[in-house]
Amino acid sequence: MYIILDLLFFLLSFISVADAGHSLWEHGARTVGLKWVAINPGPSHPQWPSPAIKFCWKNEESRERQEVYLDAAVGLWRASGMADTFRLVEVSTGDCMRNPEETLLIEGDIDDDSVFSSIAALPVAGRPLMHISWTGHPDGSEERELNRHIILAHELGHVFGLYHQHQDPYIWRLPLKRDDPDRSLIIFDCSALIGYEGVLDRYEGDEDYLYSLGGPCRNREKAVEDNFIASEYLPFLTHVQSPLRIDAMDGDVDWHSLMIYSSWSAAKEGFWSMVRRLSYRTIKLPKKPTPRDIEGLNHLFNTRYQGLRFHMYNEQNSVYYRLFLDKIRECEAINF
Ligand SMILES: [Zn+2]
Repeated sequence: MYIILDLLFFLLSFISVADAGHSLWEHGARTVGLKWVAINPGPSHPQWPSPAIKFCWKNEESRERQEVYLDAAVGLWRASGMADTFRLVEVSTGDCMRNPEETLLIEGDIDDDSVFSSIAALPVAGRPLMHISWTGHPDGSEERELNRHIILAHELGHVFGLYHQHQDPYIWRLPLKRDDPDRSLIIFDCSALIGYEGVLDRYEGDEDYLYSLGGPCRNREKAVEDNFIASEYLPFLTHVQSPLRIDAMDGDVDWHSLMIYSSWSAAKEGFWSMVRRLSYRTIKLPKKPTPRDIEGLNHLFNTRYQGLRFHMYNEQNSVYYRLFLDKIRECEAINF
């Protein structure tokens, strides 16, 4: 699966970084746990055989243009606690071509409109590919130049198998109709996204359709089909591995994750595309992997074909154990 246009989102985020008046980042963890999201590995979503991922550069120009940023991106993960077992292992061009399904190809010599793409873990068909293009990157800003390693660190997260934190289905509780209450942990403004008007025109101004369950502002697959950027926001319908539960609250989400977009990503100038529902708190541009991102990587490569282990309520190490006991006592009290 391709994660498209990431660079564009990030660039837009960087633009907004200079904005004044962002609310302070706040984190109120209610429970202690891991906070990340990944597609459930399995036959339809294969995982790398090892966290030592083989890769090759498409050509020397790609290496010359991108290696310094890629090395810095790996360094960012390493400095954040990524184990030495997670690494990129360069192989020869011959090995790369002989084993396309299991070798990441990195191309960085084409300046095109696709901007950026990378693949989360191994694709079902075709080869893993990281395409780096800085087209559209507003050169001339030292700050933005310095942020390239963060962009590639985010993409590396995809390569290892992580998906966007904000696309975790447990964060979303979309209404059945547009005017019904939305109880998602984020407020997503589809109409603020770049390209919204084009999609609206395509459906002859029928906003009700856009926000219907099958519409491109609500349905990720439809947004993909329409090549609409909302596909990078809307929740996955497939099963994901995530420590969040159906009753997740704001404090359960890792709002600092490297794998989350900022509030201004992919939004038209002067708009935000996504904020936390809790007090409309904005989401700042991530700067580095969080400990929970690291835990996500460790989980992916240690329990590759297993589900998450959740504590049952009647286990003493469950955060709900005391509540469980109280409920039992209540039941006993009423002889139920
Ligand atoms: Zn991404």
